[in-house]
Amino acid sequence: MTQLSLAYIFQHQKLLVDEKFQLPQVEKIASDLPIHHSDQVIARDLLEDEIIPDGYQLVPIRELIQTWSNTEFLQASRAIQLLEWRRNHKFCSHCGHATEIHPREYAMICPACAYHQYPRVQPCIITIITKGDDEILLAKSAHNKSNMYGLIAGFVEVGETLEEAVQREAFEEVGLKLKNVRYLSSQPWPFPSNLMIAFHAEYESGDIELQLEEISDAQFFKIDQLPEIPFKGSIAHAMITQMVENKKAS
Ligand SMILES: [Zn+2]
Repeated sequence: MTQLSLAYIFQHQKLLVDEKFQLPQVEKIASDLPIHHSDQVIARDLLEDEIIPDGYQLVPIRELIQTWSNTEFLQASRAIQLLEWRRNHKFCSHCGHATEIHPREYAMICPACAYHQYPRVQPCIITIITKGDDEILLAKSAHNKSNMYGLIAGFVEVGETLEEAVQREAFEEVGLKLKNVRYLSSQPWPFPSNLMIAFHAEYESGDIELQLEEISDAQFFKIDQLPEIPFKGSIAHAMITQMVENKKAS
């Protein structure tokens, strides 16, 4: 009997699942990427001639976050990031030679110069800024046409601490100075390969001044009069709802 593996099969940011959002079982092939160092769970890109089985569909991974448990979503997120990393490291970034897949580790190795390329995550800070006891700063992205208001976020730059990144992003995007910057939690976020690192900070000084290329509106909202916020499953949603609960309880 053939051994079947549970498969994360992606086409871009979509994953193959059945009507109940369960993964298919497939026969493993050599190019599959093992997940969790076992052959029981694998990841691959949809093969060119692969036929989508009856009852299966390609669902955007962003939708799965609202259906799946956090553990399930994290594993899918790991699978898609590892696949993307492997796809983008077919050549050595040091000498340009074609790379080979390391037999045991998540590494692409260069047979010519022995350079090892490992998967990388991009640290990205996200900050909930509060003012007084009952106001939260929310900002609308200039790139997003919806009416959703989110939190200030951005990539950590080379040579910068996380706290400095929080201060810099807040100043660049909305012109505010912050105090009492404190770590809250983190979440891997596979769009495409970020580690979201969440902070709470308090407003210190300044008037809101928008960086218009990034932000189309930003305001301090009363916690009982919030606009539309990011979807459930995102770290921003968890941060905002948690803060509102804390403020209401205090
Ligand atoms: Zn090389």
